[in-house]
Amino acid sequence: MRIDENIRRLLENEVKIHLAEIRFLYEKLDHKFGLHAARIPVTFGFEEDSLGSYTPKAGQNEEEFHFSLLFIGYCVENPLSKGDRFDLYKHEYAHYMQYNMEIPKKYTWQPGIHGSAWKYCCSLVGAAPTPYYKVGESLIKHDYDAALKNKIHDKSIPIRDRYNRQKEYERSKNSIVKYNKGDMVNHPKFGSGTIEQIEKLEGSVRLHIRFGDDLKKIDQKWLLRTKYK
Ligand SMILES: [Zn+2]
Repeated sequence: MRIDENIRRLLENEVKIHLAEIRFLYEKLDHKFGLHAARIPVTFGFEEDSLGSYTPKAGQNEEEFHFSLLFIGYCVENPLSKGDRFDLYKHEYAHYMQYNMEIPKKYTWQPGIHGSAWKYCCSLVGAAPTPYYKVGESLIKHDYDAALKNKIHDKSIPIRDRYNRQKEYERSKNSIVKYNKGDMVNHPKFGSGTIEQIEKLEGSVRLHIRFGDDLKKIDQKWLLRTKYK
């Protein structure tokens, strides 16, 4: 999707309002739980595949909240309702709590970013305990007790937040060259071939492989996957 320049400008002008809304909510929650989320920088972007994120301070990562104006903005085609917008802010606040609060032992059994510790935090702030965004979710009365015992995640998309560190890891993992020029490889369809050229791309490696008269360009990731089948 190409963002119209006018829309982009309008959305950028909205930032101040969103920032005030988020800070006001986080100050209220901070007061209740003795935390300091309202002091953490909030940044905004134009992501199409995620609504928001919380990045804890780790290594080179600065702690921040981040939200996509394409979802929270007022002047987009299908803006989130106020209830859903606040639910998103609480969803990310619950992630912040996960890292900055003592979690009772009985809520630590399920690992993961959206595991039981996070769901417990959701129950404290009143956020929908689902990692995926659904319209009107904020209006539903949530059964936190069931959510805290339930292992099964709803797999509907789009996802609410993206985990920068995980993505970065995936990206760097996939861009490490695992073959050498001249290596022989086996392809389930084309048979055996020889790597003639290795192209390093951002987030992937493209192999130019000769199968007899045919020269094919194949993503290394794919070849590695089929190798272990
Ligand atoms: Zn999340």
